Amino acid sequence: MKFFLYIFQLVFFFSFDNSFASYIDSKSSQDQESLDIVFYNIDLKVDPKKKIISGNTIITFVLYQKVKNIEIDLLKNYTVSGTSINGTSLAFEQKNDKVYILKTGLKLFKEHSLEIKYVGKPPVSKSPPWEAGIIWDEDSNGNHWVGIACQSKGGHIWFPSKSNPNDKAEGAEIKITVPKPLKVVSNGLLKSIEPSSGYWHTWVWETNYPISSYNINFTIGDFKEVKRTGYILDKPLKMIFYTLSNDTNKDIELLKSAEEYLSFYAGLFGQYPWIQEKFGIVQTPYWGMEHQTAIAYGNNHKKTNLGYDFLLFHEIGHEWWGNFLSVYDWADFWIHEGINTYAEALYIEKKYNLETSINFIKTNFESNIQNKKPIIAQPNSGIDVFTDNDVYYKGAYLLHTLRYIIGKEILIESLKEFLYIPKEHSNNQTTTSEFVTLIEMNSKKELSWFFDQYWNNAKLPILNIKENIIKNKKFIDIWWEDDGFKMPIVINYNSFDGLREKELELSNNPKKIVIPKSSELIIDPESWVLFEKKAYK
Ligand SMILES: [Zn+2]
Repeated sequence: MKFFLYIFQLVFFFSFDNSFASYIDSKSSQDQESLDIVFYNIDLKVDPKKKIISGNTIITFVLYQKVKNIEIDLLKNYTVSGTSINGTSLAFEQKNDKVYILKTGLKLFKEHSLEIKYVGKPPVSKSPPWEAGIIWDEDSNGNHWVGIACQSKGGHIWFPSKSNPNDKAEGAEIKITVPKPLKVVSNGLLKSIEPSSGYWHTWVWETNYPISSYNINFTIGDFKEVKRTGYILDKPLKMIFYTLSNDTNKDIELLKSAEEYLSFYAGLFGQYPWIQEKFGIVQTPYWGMEHQTAIAYGNNHKKTNLGYDFLLFHEIGHEWWGNFLSVYDWADFWIHEGINTYAEALYIEKKYNLETSINFIKTNFESNIQNKKPIIAQPNSGIDVFTDNDVYYKGAYLLHTLRYIIGKEILIESLKEFLYIPKEHSNNQTTTSEFVTLIEMNSKKELSWFFDQYWNNAKLPILNIKENIIKNKKFIDIWWEDDGFKMPIVINYNSFDGLREKELELSNNPKKIVIPKSSELIIDPESWVLFEKKAYK
């Protein structure tokens, strides 16, 4: 649900002047922007034999401005057979993955109920979860096993909704009818299983927490339920793993690992956001996705060489970073993936030590950084603009670099605060500029030189080094090439009386240092800073 909270603009507008505009434009049309989603009631029959879905979605919405048409996203794969608002049937038009309900004159600032009936074949994903679509699979016993991957396009690949990330609903009811004895797993709490006629039954799930449309999801399979009550910051949490496996030992172990990871995140970032509902994992025919309270898991209990289940750990982190706190515009997607990825380095630091974590950052993050595009995209970008993994690895590494400037304590406290501070947009939908403002306030530092360089430029800053050897000494000039960049940097070298280490304040003007000819200058020995070296002789 999206309100424009002007009051926050007044009290929360930026204390430092920086170059990050607040992205209030949207690629949605003005008509769609005027409509504010309150709730989705999805009622669908999924027929895995015919590979067809059919049913209706009721969208409760508030209208904030007069519109020409009510405009909803739904793939053109589906045929709409009827639409109505507040019980009255209305004419509609289907065009380019949109449904237009030709109605003006609805009352403003009041809730309305739009029903869309439809039937069709969802697109099949060839590469889930990256490519959006349905996965019609079978388990080893020949039972249907069905998943749907929709982050990259949005919920409208299977139900009428707004695909723009800027309008979370207040909640959703997901009613899915499938052939018996298949089960359906979805968001929130299971309200009922309705045995309709002999062959079919209906699983009714409901969540009453704000939720992005791409996070509304279902998985169908012949699942067993492995349950456990976890304790997160001393509060009980209902944990369920819907699995195809008979190996309950491994399955209960997975829930124990999940409890450990949840406790780690809660310790750093505050309580598990959906404690009143559940923590759910469902075994999927694809690798994974962070569906709120119903994580898609297809990692087969695989652990990294540091002894944890990467996929489970990563998707759990998204319950805070991406699901509870969400971007208002995909342009700022690094907030979901970069912060969540850095949390993994923090976990390794806690489990082992800082040295192991830095090695992990170097081997896992640095080697994957491409520097081809800025990690912030143009406003109103689609999520598909991110063709490499820089929002993950560069985003994470830059938080490590930020930590070097502001310290671990301020960084961690700021990240936690970022989750809970009032935002300009409702339902905890945020922007990079809100992050920058918070970091500058908490660190009491003006950091536009830092964020401009790293967030708005594709290329890394260049550190120039010019060396001159005269007799038994090296005379070295060091300076940053990029205008205004002033990152301090640690150096060390062997002096005549042992190892010397110091931090240099650097700017665009050469800084001179002199070291013995026999010594090698080591710049940034702990690899805190991302930069490129350029040497002159
Ligand atoms: Zn992720």
